[in-house]
Amino acid sequence: MSAKVALITGSTSGIGLAIAKGFAKEGYITCLNSFEPEQDVSEIVLEVDNAGNEPVAYFSFDLSNATNGARLVEAVITKFGRLDVLVNNAGVQKVSPIAQLSTSDWELVRTISLDASFETMKASIPDMISRNWGRIINIASAHGLVASPYKSAYVAAKHGLIGLTKTGALEVAQNGITVNAICPGYVLTPLVEKQLKDQMKVHNMSEEEVINNIMLANQPTKKFIQPQEIASMALYLCSDMARSITGTSIVIDGGWTSR
Ligand code: NAD
Repeated sequence: MSAKVALITGSTSGIGLAIAKGFAKEGYITCLNSFEPEQDVSEIVLEVDNAGNEPVAYFSFDLSNATNGARLVEAVITKFGRLDVLVNNAGVQKVSPIAQLSTSDWELVRTISLDASFETMKASIPDMISRNWGRIINIASAHGLVASPYKSAYVAAKHGLIGLTKTGALEVAQNGITVNAICPGYVLTPLVEKQLKDQMKVHNMSEEEVINNIMLANQPTKKFIQPQEIASMALYLCSDMARSITGTSIVIDGGWTSR
């Protein structure tokens, strides 16, 4: 059998990039995605390419238009003839009190995390069913299970993504397809680095205070999670030994949601 094809949305940075490198290293044909033009991410694509021996391809589709999720999956299937693993990872954060959060920011966060994931799943499932095998992994968050102030759009979208995960799992359970969510706590990525500034503003705190009193306050290990830890779980979920794990929200949060 030829190598399996994995698509990771939002994979030019942070967690998605670590997952893409992990899949490339494990012998998957790896499909990267972001909204950036290909020439701007060519070094990143090369980095992933160098991690393994199977082909790596980049697909520029902006998922702030949710229907691009379906177009992205169609483009992957057109190029490689199949899609075996879908990782919905693309996401953005907006930190603001509800009263000041713009409707467009609310929609942006929800569209990328939730609506586009629905579209990619909808487009992938028939192809996965045709081979009676598939893996769908939705990168949710600890904020898919618990809330924090000033993150209404993100918390709502990630709670919704867990609902979509559970429903999808039930619908394809007899087709050899598993659907799971991974719920990380704070992982040190560009998304979190950017958030630091917004958090400093809304909480009127220094960078150090935000890290210690806000971000890692609820993370009992007091350590940021590494992107590779999320990648390892994604790879495990694609193994045959994980075939009975479906509809779950796997928490990698240093103990945060145990409180
Ligand atoms: P990141 O900012 O480092 O990477 C986000 C990726 O998504 C980038 O490749 C970016 O280009 C892409 N992206 C953004 N907007 C896009 C769009 N409109 N269309 C296509 N791609 C787009 O972020 P990260 O921290 O690696 O986060 C990845 C996922 O993990 C997100 O869904 C995030 O919510 C989730 N998550 C992150 C953390 C954390 O602490 N970093 C914790 C829990 C969950």
